[in-house]
Amino acid sequence: MTEPALSQTNSPIVAAYIERTPTSAQLFQRAQASLPSGLTHDARHIDPYPIYVERAQGSRKWDVDGHEYVDYMGGHGALLLGHNHPEVTAVAKRQLDIGTHFGACHELEIRWAELIKEMIPSAEKVRFTSSGTEATLLALRMSRGSTGKTKVIRYACHFHGWHDHFSAAYVNHFDGSAPIGVLNSVADDMIVVPPNDLDATRVAIEGGDIAAVILEPTGASWGHVPAPPEFVAGLRKLTAKHDVILIFDEVISGFRCSPGGAQAALGITPDLTTLAKIMAGGLPGGAVVGRTDLIDLISFDEDARGGHEKILHFGTFNGNPESAATGIACLEIVKNTDACAHANRAAAKLRAGLTEVVIDEKLPWGIYGTFSGFHIFTNPEKRKIDPVGFDPLAVPWQELRAGDPPIANKLRLGMLVYGVDINGWPGGMTSAVSSDDDFDQTIDAFKRTIRDMKDEGDL
Ligand code: PMP
Repeated sequence: MTEPALSQTNSPIVAAYIERTPTSAQLFQRAQASLPSGLTHDARHIDPYPIYVERAQGSRKWDVDGHEYVDYMGGHGALLLGHNHPEVTAVAKRQLDIGTHFGACHELEIRWAELIKEMIPSAEKVRFTSSGTEATLLALRMSRGSTGKTKVIRYACHFHGWHDHFSAAYVNHFDGSAPIGVLNSVADDMIVVPPNDLDATRVAIEGGDIAAVILEPTGASWGHVPAPPEFVAGLRKLTAKHDVILIFDEVISGFRCSPGGAQAALGITPDLTTLAKIMAGGLPGGAVVGRTDLIDLISFDEDARGGHEKILHFGTFNGNPESAATGIACLEIVKNTDACAHANRAAAKLRAGLTEVVIDEKLPWGIYGTFSGFHIFTNPEKRKIDPVGFDPLAVPWQELRAGDPPIANKLRLGMLVYGVDINGWPGGMTSAVSSDDDFDQTIDAFKRTIRDMKDEGDL
């Protein structure tokens, strides 16, 4: 039996949400006539409807009904510096006057690539794309092109964008079978291995014909299912031994865990890295970076050098001047300030504060995360959990991944009612402008939401 829509229940939390957000409700009504589920991104799905945001500044945003929110969505991870950092905004405006697309080479693309090389340890060369999805697609093509091998190992529930090759084993079913609209013949060439399973990876590699292994180096979906550093180190050794290309998908962790991404923080260097989000300073942009011999498969010299066909890659907005300008401004700040360290400290403080609430409220929940991330495990199977020192790796990955959608949805609504926007799994990320006021408001909202949910009989 499917759960009734929350709007059909008599929950006071839902009633308070609906009461506060009439203009969002109207916009959602209108959106449904033109957009599937009224949405443009699946992660914005929320029952009964999402808030519509009018403007944002720093760590905050305001909805169309005038309510202010502490923002932990961070532009889906793109906004390490918070909303509208003055230096980034200034170059964005200046570039608009100069030109957003020359249909030609320009100096900004060179500086952007140079900065990325200075910051990301694996980046010997850079090829720009327009998104993270395009970056993982291109990394795949480079891996197959250079090795002549067909299959790629990916870990269940790690996210690498929405294109056909990485769509299996992310949602609904994790057995590697093709999701709707994707060909079985495409899914069949992706070898799905359980997260953090080095032995299964070894067996899959020994099965042969493996071009590459790809993973999110801090774990699936920004550490929702964490990856232990020892596993990542073991994987580096294993792939090197078997001459298999190791791809770090740092679309979210790049320039966030540290100025050099997760790879600098972990001290582990992959062969290829995919980047997007923070690298473009809040505008669209992505890149594949890595070993010169791999990136140069795109080079026009490739034919002459190795007798190989050049790898095909176009893209109207690759390295466009507007994204390059904001990307450079953002990366200079990330490189030269404590932006990452500040965000990391703010998240550590938040995780500790949320854990205290869970302890005070006697809930068997676990708060976890690394770097600037936090995740809230609401323990649907009612495991015996001590929130102090909670170890997410002691919970089966399927359970972490599945969470408890009705509870997560209610928690999210409650937090919104108290002026805090977290993401839906539930969790979020802090930024370089996360403040003590944000912390206080978030802890208060969490406490009040939990009490409201207890009153409603949810907990
Ligand atoms: N890989 C990872 C690890 C991501 O987090 C994302 C975006 N959430 C992507 C790939 C896809 O990036 P984009 O949305 O820019 O296509």
